[in-house]
Formats: sequence, structure tokens, C-alpha cells
Amino acid sequence: FQVPTAINEPVKSYAPGSPEREEVLKQYKAFYNSTIDVPLYIGSEEIRTGNTKPMSPPHEHQHVLGHYHLAEKSHVEKAIANGLEAREKWANLTWEQRAAIFLKAAELIAGPYRAKMNAATMLAQSKNIYQAEIDAACEIIDFLRFNVEYMSQIYGEQPESAEGIWNRVEYRPLEGFVYAITPFNFTAIAGNLPASAAMMGNVVIWKPSDSQVYSAKVIVDVFKEAGLPDGVINVVYGDPVMISDTVLASPDFSGIHFTGSTHVFKALWKQIGNNIDKYKTYPRIVGETGGKDFIIAHPTAKPQQVATAITRGAFEFQGQKCSAASRVYLPKSTADEILELVKADVASFKKPGSPEDMSNFITAVIHEGAFDKLASYIEQAKADKDAEIIAGGGYDKSVGYFIEPTVILTSNPKYDTMCTELFGPVVTIYIYEDADWSETLKLVDSTSEYGLTGAVLSADRYAIDEATKALQNCAGNFYINDKPTGAVVGQQPFGGARASGTNDKAGSMQNLLRWVSPRLIKETF
Ligand code: GLU
Repeated sequence: FQVPTAINEPVKSYAPGSPEREEVLKQYKAFYNSTIDVPLYIGSEEIRTGNTKPMSPPHEHQHVLGHYHLAEKSHVEKAIANGLEAREKWANLTWEQRAAIFLKAAELIAGPYRAKMNAATMLAQSKNIYQAEIDAACEIIDFLRFNVEYMSQIYGEQPESAEGIWNRVEYRPLEGFVYAITPFNFTAIAGNLPASAAMMGNVVIWKPSDSQVYSAKVIVDVFKEAGLPDGVINVVYGDPVMISDTVLASPDFSGIHFTGSTHVFKALWKQIGNNIDKYKTYPRIVGETGGKDFIIAHPTAKPQQVATAITRGAFEFQGQKCSAASRVYLPKSTADEILELVKADVASFKKPGSPEDMSNFITAVIHEGAFDKLASYIEQAKADKDAEIIAGGGYDKSVGYFIEPTVILTSNPKYDTMCTELFGPVVTIYIYEDADWSETLKLVDSTSEYGLTGAVLSADRYAIDEATKALQNCAGNFYINDKPTGAVVGQQPFGGARASGTNDKAGSMQNLLRWVSPRLIKETF
């Protein structure tokens, strides 16, 4: 059985005057000028509890885009009951029948829903159009198409048989339901976590981030139009502790698919451990969590290439990527030249602004909490003797949560912002003595608890080899002569270990295998 060969969705240009630019701006304005009311989606019902929270663009926090309804405990219980009811039929569909729904969803996003997905992501998560297109159009389409291809490989994999014996494997969905908790920073991740578990025959309780409900609603619309049966993916928002307590207390909880903070993931893991006797089956625990991603330049690296890796790796997407470059190690011999190039690049950016103006590269960070945290680290760096701000350093939340791209230079390799994840457009640079290259690799490895992404830039093959070996545990995605961001589905499966997650690469067969429980059947003739 052959599924359509997955290819990466081409990124549209949104050049001035292009039809896609006109269309997305029209959709942006239409969303901006209307308000929506987002219900809980439980079974076949859209539930409006009346207890609501407003949604606003991070770049214009006084403007209201609509409200979403918060679940009570009884709604979460109802979502679980509806999911389990839907499971009876869903788990018994052939995998091809399920795959067809997700392939159709990919086509809907590639076509009629593209402008909506992008406009919702621009407005509610404050991404510029080029970033929204990569995330809310191309990456989610790629996740859907490539995962269907991986599905076909999984279901096609069978053991050897022998004369008089027929061995076969049935890839059963997990016995129960899967809980998906998704972040604000990627609409694609929000769609992928519930979809990848559902593809493999599972039913899902999905809790999107409060800051991503607006675009989550468009994903729900797409899945519905693609023909996803009611109750397969049930969507709840509200008090995260109450929701998780309720979900994790169910004996039918059989797996969690999580992207978010290390702290929350560890707390959930402990809670799952404490509840272990309640469950029918050992739950699958799959998570992608934080990062403190590095760039290390060797003295042979080209200064312009290093500078571009720093500014793109640290500031694209406002630095709100788990993979964003946030600590940089430069050799003394080329540091001045690289820093001048970085400063010039940052000086060339326009001031942060609304994504509606497509010439804005930097927009707003997600909410006031993120803004205040970043501003306080910037103030601290201004005050500390072992740190200096060499570019940016400004911030303003009067209209939107705007933080200027900021470069901190430190003389202390263990300075706070060399170690702590900030999740915003702030990067810290440390300069090492050229002769200390090997020592600096050890420093890179020992400075952070995380292990998500990292990059080495060098023209010297021996140095590249040394770095690749020395840094083997501190980046699940390791880039040579590139920035540490921008993993493409189907090309660079994404994920890391240590405090960065379980490293069940997003967009991989390995990930999909976590959502099935194979049964081996041996038949003797
Ligand atoms: N896949 C993205 C990248 O490689 C990052 C995803 C994330 O932030 O979780 O840049």
C-alpha cells in the first residue's frame, strides 16, 4: 500500500503585491475587526461555560480578539468519557482510513485555510508573516504528510515467519486515552501533538496553551472539515492544575504528549509516578521541554557566518523557540570583528512592532509575564559588573510587549544569562582565549542542564570532529556551520535529552511508535 510521497510544503514569499500577501492581510483585518467566542470541544458538543477569559494580540494588548470558555472539572471528566466512547470506533478504523483524514487536513491548510492559519498566528502569537508561514502553514502541513508516510512504514513492518508458522504484529493504539499539552510558540507543534497520537488510533484530550487558543480554534475547524470524527480530539482550557489533576487521576490515562517547560513536565512526571497504581497500563511519557542552546565559533570560522548565525538564531521568532541560540562562545582573535557585525545587524532592525506591517522583523513577546522577566534580566545585566549590554537593551509595554533584540557580553562564563533559559530575544556572549578551545568545549557541556540544540562553526575539520565528540550529549540537534534553529520536518527530526526532554523526535517514526502498543500474534498451522 503506497501513500503519497511526502515533500516539504514550499514556503510562499509574501512579496509586496503578491496574491498571498493581499489575502493574508485581508484575513488579518477581518479577524482583527471581529470578535470570536471559543467553546470547549467535547465529543460532538461545543460547550460555552460562561466563565471566560479574553484573548488579545501581544503587540496590542488593549485590543480584544474574543474570549474562550474555561472548563470545570466536570467538563474534563466529560471529555474523557466522550473520548473513550469515540475510541470504540476510531481505534477500529483501518490506518489508511485515519491517514486519509490527516492528509485531507494538510491539503486544507495548504489551500483554503492557509490565510486563516497564518493570520491567527500573526495576531494571537505575534509572529511576522514569514514566521507564521513557516510555522502555521508549512510545518504543520509537513508534520501531517510526513507522519502519514511514517505511519505507512510502521504498519507495513512485519516479523519473519517460518514453515507452518505465521507471525504477525498488530499495532494497537494505547489502551485508554492520550493527554496532549501544547505550547504557544508553534502553531505546528500545537497541531502535531494531538494529531500524531490520534493518527495511531488514539483518542486525545488536548489542552492548548492559554496564549494559543485563537489559532488552536482554526486547527479544530480544519480537523472537523477534514472529517475527524467527534470525540477523537477533545479540547479543554482552564486552570492547568485542575485539568491535569483530573486527567492524570483517570485509570484510562495511557500517555502524555507534551511540549512546554521543564519545570511543568517534571511535576507532571512525578504526579504520574504517584498515580501509577491507578492506571491500567504504564503510561507513555513523551516531552520536549526547555533549552539553553549554544553557538561556539572556532578561530577558523568566518566572522560573517558566525554573526548571521547569532542574529538569526537568537532573534528570529523573538527568540521564543526552544532551539533559539542564547549562549555564544567566541574566540578572542575574531571576537571584535564578529561583535561589530552583530551590532551592525541589530542596528539595522526596525524597532519592534505589529506584524500587520510586514516590514517589521521583530514583534512582541507573548505576554506580560514574559516581558517582565526579560526586562528584569536586562536591568540586572545593566547593573552587574561582569556583564555589559552591547546592543539593544530597550523595552516598552505601553502598547505591546516589545523587547528590543539584546546582546549581553559577559566576562563570566557562568553568568546567570549564560545558564538560565530566558525564552526571548536576549543572547549572551562570552569570549574565550583561542588556546582554550578544548577547555571551552568542556565548559559548553557543563554550563547548562539542557541538551536541545547547539551549533559549531569552523573551517577546521579536526576542530569540528573534536566538538562533535565533546558535545555529544548536550544537543539532540547539532548543527555544523549553521545556526541552531530551523529544523525542517522530514529532514531534521527535532528533540533533545537531559532537561530538554525525552528526545522522541517530533516528526519521526520513533515518535509515532510511542503511541502504539504492538501485539505479536503467532499462528501455527
Ligand atoms: N523546531 C524548531 C526549530 O528547530 C523549534 C521548536 C521549538 O521551539 O520547540 O527551530
